Amino acid sequence: MLENFTGLDVREDADTLHEECGVFGIWAPDRDVARLTCFALRALQHRGQESAGIAVGNGSTVLVRKDLGLVAEVFSDYDLGAMPGKLAVGHVRYGTSGARSWEAAQPHLSTIDDVIIALAHNGTLVNSDHLRAELDRVGVRFRSNTDSEVAAKLIGFFTGHEHRIIKGIRHTMNLIEGGYAMALARENALYAFRDPHGIRPLVLGELPAREDGTGAGWVVASETCAFDIVGARFVREIEPGEIIRISEDGLVSEPGTQARATHNCIFEEVYFSRPDSIVDGSSVYSMRYNMGRQLAREAPVDADLVIGVPDSGLPPAEGFAAELGLKFGEGLIKNRYVARTFIQPTQEMRQMGVRLKLNALRDNVEGKRIVMVDDSIVRGTTSKQIVRMLKDAGAKEVHVRINCPEVKWPCFYGIDTDVQAQLISATKNVEEVCQFIEADSLAFLSLEGLESCVPKVGWCKACYNGEYPVEVPPAFAAGKFVEGFKPVSLYPPTDGATRSIDEELQVEVQ
Ligand code: SF4
Repeated sequence: MLENFTGLDVREDADTLHEECGVFGIWAPDRDVARLTCFALRALQHRGQESAGIAVGNGSTVLVRKDLGLVAEVFSDYDLGAMPGKLAVGHVRYGTSGARSWEAAQPHLSTIDDVIIALAHNGTLVNSDHLRAELDRVGVRFRSNTDSEVAAKLIGFFTGHEHRIIKGIRHTMNLIEGGYAMALARENALYAFRDPHGIRPLVLGELPAREDGTGAGWVVASETCAFDIVGARFVREIEPGEIIRISEDGLVSEPGTQARATHNCIFEEVYFSRPDSIVDGSSVYSMRYNMGRQLAREAPVDADLVIGVPDSGLPPAEGFAAELGLKFGEGLIKNRYVARTFIQPTQEMRQMGVRLKLNALRDNVEGKRIVMVDDSIVRGTTSKQIVRMLKDAGAKEVHVRINCPEVKWPCFYGIDTDVQAQLISATKNVEEVCQFIEADSLAFLSLEGLESCVPKVGWCKACYNGEYPVEVPPAFAAGKFVEGFKPVSLYPPTDGATRSIDEELQVEVQ
């Protein structure tokens, strides 16, 4: 790996937004749960490529295999064969909280008396420093500096006092703030739960029985594309604040913590989710196609060819071309066998990073006026390199169209843009960004336009408008905002956000 070659702590392509993680859980006592989880994690691989892990509950204990690397690198056939069980949880990670290390890989283990639990978490907890200090005070020790381990240890701590995991989860949900979707395995039960605003996605599916009546089960996942690969059918979203428990007694829905106004992450529809995933009855592909049509209505341009930046820019490019009656075609070819590019210490090497992933198709772009549709602009350096690449390949004009508004505000709920100064649109207007990326014109989809293309549920749009559904504690936000920018908290913090562990132990939970 380049990482070892350079000996530097290099990060994956820092000019792209990254989802922090993908989670999966399965209850299917008659199935090979470890292998099915491995397949599901492959379907969720786009959500995280730093590490992967699977924990299996076999009726008497929990077995875990996790490591740095892609799913295909982490699990051998031998590993999977050595993990028989009734249930499993799996995780792929692109971490922003905590270092890139084996200890930070998930699922995280926590031991309660002689019971082991394994927790897989997607999201970010904004008050984890306070909670880590609280746990530290009562003698809990950590192996990593991740917020996910804080959640695992909190559940372990409260369960140790209450002697019921469901109570341990409820106490934990009372305290943790932020965006989270979690799947938890113990030796004989699977749990799944989601933050009270539903910021991070979590869906429930059913595994049908085989013809002989065996093999029925349940699955949970960050996206429905993980259901398709294991043969499960979508049932419903896990509700904000809900806990699902699946065991020999069947599936039970339990209240976790009081649901608040729904704010699903709208960026899932723009970029993170796979186009074949379904959200509220619509495919992500069709939403992106409609974003392209809307963008064409808002910012039309005459051109010879409309191209998309693979992969998430392709559906909106198709929609853009259809709306204006322009030709849609391939202009950029993605190297699918370079899974990751690494930021290198020199600009020259950074440019190579993009070239490792993308190349211009000279036959299609030479001498043409091109519209290039992409999902977002973060720092602007990648867009600039792609525009140059197209011009080097002979494009006469390159007009850039972005199928979402300008990303001006940092995300604190599970995406790796928590420093506003990294975002080019925070400090430059559209014209200046256009000059920086050396495009002939640039336009972004309006927020109203974006909202017209997604289901009518509540959305988190904080990275576009600075209105945060969960208050970001001042200590957590320190140094993260550009001077003059004042984030708006849509709601006051909950009582639990700063509660001590001792105070929480006084709270009655069912
Ligand atoms: S701030 Fe943006 S990326 Fe983060 S959860 Fe909200 S919509 Fe998603």
